[in-house]
Amino acid sequence: MIGEMTKPIDTIAPPSVIDEWPRDIDGQFLVGGLPLTRAVAMAGGSPCYLYDRQRIMSRIAGLRRRLSPRVRIHYAIKANPMAALVCMMAGLTDGLDVASGGELGLALDSGMAPAEISFAGPGKLEAELIRAHAAGILLNVESLREARLLAALGRSSGRDARVAVRCNLPFELKASGMKMTGGPKPFGIDQADLPAMMDILDGKGAQFEGFHLYAGSQNLKADAISEAQTKSYEQAMRWTTLAPVAPRSINLGGGFGIRYAAYDKPLDVGAVIDNLNGLAERLSRDLPEAHLVIELGRYLVGEAGLYVASVVDKKQSCGQTFLVTDGGMHQHLAASGNFGQVIRKNYPVAVNGSAGHGKREIASVVGPLCTPLDILADQADLAVADVGDLVAVFQSGAYGRSASPQAFLGHAAVKEALV
Ligand SMILES: *Cc1c(COP(=O)(O)O)cnc(C)c1O
Repeated sequence: MIGEMTKPIDTIAPPSVIDEWPRDIDGQFLVGGLPLTRAVAMAGGSPCYLYDRQRIMSRIAGLRRRLSPRVRIHYAIKANPMAALVCMMAGLTDGLDVASGGELGLALDSGMAPAEISFAGPGKLEAELIRAHAAGILLNVESLREARLLAALGRSSGRDARVAVRCNLPFELKASGMKMTGGPKPFGIDQADLPAMMDILDGKGAQFEGFHLYAGSQNLKADAISEAQTKSYEQAMRWTTLAPVAPRSINLGGGFGIRYAAYDKPLDVGAVIDNLNGLAERLSRDLPEAHLVIELGRYLVGEAGLYVASVVDKKQSCGQTFLVTDGGMHQHLAASGNFGQVIRKNYPVAVNGSAGHGKREIASVVGPLCTPLDILADQADLAVADVGDLVAVFQSGAYGRSASPQAFLGHAAVKEALV
């Protein structure tokens, strides 16, 4: 049981994601049906990221069961670009969204039909546009420059470029971890530039196919997401009057969040789906040939991943306990609180197996870097661990390895496995 309680309740209460995670009779967390020690050994040892295939599959199946077929599910590769995982997503989703030439290469190699790949991101290089146009993917243009370059490529090749216009929405996504629209933004074009944009996309080299609207990320409020998606839909319908042809796709973004802090309430995804199905119904009357797209990263893969490190040393300092591990912020920047968090909150963290035999303690989990930023868990309530025990950081399937400064301090690269 829990010892002296001196910490605020949010760091004492075990986050429910840990309680919900399956364990074997020895208390080991199960990944892909395997006890953690075995899954880690299979990955080549700690530190490592482990992604549970079955969890990703059931997450997508859960969305599909309730979602109108008029709403397509895309995977945003940025959340987790592991090649094997991207290949798996190619078979499970309706499309892949990329944000760089590197991600475009991954998406094309994955087996996803090029027609179902889209490319967003400000500052696309001419070389990236040439490659994307050659592949026949959909380009979410973010400036008049991109549209002009694509129209020129279309004219010189005799094959029109496929273009969707990313527009800066005149409102914000409320209660969002990251706001990507409303006010001055480097993403997409302003409403005022739409007529000039549509002049370029008049069929002479570049074909207008739709709108791309992305309001924000990591949102746990179904009402806020639904409101933003409804407003985005209505805005797209108004902008359609400016377009040379009717849009075939309207990408309403995503922003579905997952729980990190113990007090986070899970997103009521059913409510978001109900609203999306309502919009799909409206679309079938407004534009019978068109479909909606949602693009999700974190929500599809985040909860399926664990980051696992081994305890290398255990120390006391001024009355506090430190578990020093072989992993840290260089491999998992987000868990250290340095990737987009305003106030540092612990990710759900737990010690594997029957460590402590029921005894618990307040301990901080840190990495091997010579910086106080290298924290995986600050003063967390954990089973009493010792050197050699495994510590698992949950909710680590998105914005993990690829969002971390691995070269910092020159430790060995983190391993990854899809189990
Ligand atoms: C980052 C991003 C996504 C994915 O966001 P998640 O929060 O991981 O779902 C989707 N679309 C665009 C345009 C993005 O920039």
